[in-house]
Amino acid sequence: MPVSEQMVQDIVKEVMAKLQIASAPAAGGRGVFADMNEAIAQAKKAQKIVHAMSMDQREKIISNIRKKTIENAEILARMGVEETGMGNVGHKILKHRLVAEKTPGTEDITTTAWSGDRGLTLIEMGPFGVIGAITPCTNPSETVICNSIGMIAGGNTVVFNPHPAAVKTSMYAINMINEASIEAGGPDNVACTVLKPTLESSNIMMKHKDIQLIAATGGPGVVTAVLSSGRRGIGAGAGNPPALVDETADIRKAAQDIVNGCTFDNNLPCIAEKEVVAVDSIADELMHYMLTEQGCYLASKEEQDKLVATVLTPKGLNRKCVGRDAKTLLGMIGVTVPDNIRCIIFEGPMEHPLIAEELMMPILGIVRAKDFDDAVEKAVWLEHGNRHSAHIHSKNIDNITKYAKAIDTAILVKNAPSYAAIGFGGEGFCTFTIASRTGEGLTSASTFTKRRRCVMSDSLCIR
Ligand code: NAD
Repeated sequence: MPVSEQMVQDIVKEVMAKLQIASAPAAGGRGVFADMNEAIAQAKKAQKIVHAMSMDQREKIISNIRKKTIENAEILARMGVEETGMGNVGHKILKHRLVAEKTPGTEDITTTAWSGDRGLTLIEMGPFGVIGAITPCTNPSETVICNSIGMIAGGNTVVFNPHPAAVKTSMYAINMINEASIEAGGPDNVACTVLKPTLESSNIMMKHKDIQLIAATGGPGVVTAVLSSGRRGIGAGAGNPPALVDETADIRKAAQDIVNGCTFDNNLPCIAEKEVVAVDSIADELMHYMLTEQGCYLASKEEQDKLVATVLTPKGLNRKCVGRDAKTLLGMIGVTVPDNIRCIIFEGPMEHPLIAEELMMPILGIVRAKDFDDAVEKAVWLEHGNRHSAHIHSKNIDNITKYAKAIDTAILVKNAPSYAAIGFGGEGFCTFTIASRTGEGLTSASTFTKRRRCVMSDSLCIR
């Protein structure tokens, strides 16, 4: 049959349409699918390509994710605050820079070797495949970017089920990660998600045969759900970090460090100081510096009661108060303060609901302890066995050691704001997934790999 002009044009049209389908981002951007099963299928295809890549090629993708994160830091920060109503744009910009600059990449994937008379044995870190990740609304894009860098470095791809309150921000980050991969010569869909993440899509993900590992970052509910799923789970759960101050501390600096940490991103980080335990002899001095030099407001008993009635509901936290600044929270109970007020403080017993609950608001209750041992006991009670984070201001190394052993947390910051724990004003790498419940601690690329032993018997030892 002779080929007519019309037939040629039809073929061209069909090919162009197919090309467009292949290259056009889905409605929510690259990596976003209507259905969770489809998202996992596409991530699986991409994982085969990532696994076959050299480490150098993987690192090129990661470098481009870092570059794009820095370029988009302000957009992501503004989007996160706008969408969730929580946090502080300036602080969120810093968090995005931190995640871009200090999240470990392929350098974290290392080999252990034993060489001797009987040959050579290696432990190599291999990928799990497609990892399922559940992310919080408190650090939505930061967690998506942090998890993606570590998981891709380990040769995996990832499917996210983000918090429904932060879908837009999470999708923007996922689209950006896929664009970074394509530009660096990698595949599309290294990070995937669904248009409407729900508990149902999360359940599909947790039970899917192609998901070998789940990384859950969030409150106690999600970690328990993941650990009951029958899959291997990395559980990065809730915290309620106490900051202990003893009589040997530099009290003025302790006041500054604690308020800086507590007010960072309006107290959203899980590591942030949530309450203070101060020994009696320095408690008044500490509060004096907080009030006179650190922009704190002292809430009266009546104002504390109004705050309890406003920020807590019979079902738990009032979500309209989480991640709001001190001025806004005080405004909600009819108190007007100047702009320099950044933290609400008061003294109370450890059982006070504004102290015992993980609020994620710049409300800092101060619990007085009669001596150091009493302070440790109170701080351990307040941490609620989360084994997440705790902080101390002390120059007595015996006291620091005693506290560290008693509280047994994944993170213990000494004489600095809490954010020093994730590499901001402290040594060490950054993460936004701190596996408190399951014990991996601060996660990085190596956490998302399987250990494989490779044995060559009676050969290759050339000493
Ligand atoms: P959240 O528990 O409400 O939600 C976290 C994620 O879990 C969301 O994606 C949510 O949709 C999902 N989820 C909740 N219950 C679920 C269930 N039963 N099954 C499946 N998925 C479920 O937490 P949030 O408000 O987004 O974040 C704040 C909490 O997360 C705080 O408790 C904070 O301490 C914790 N957090 C921990 C870390 C860490 O690294 N350990 C980091 C950030 C936040």
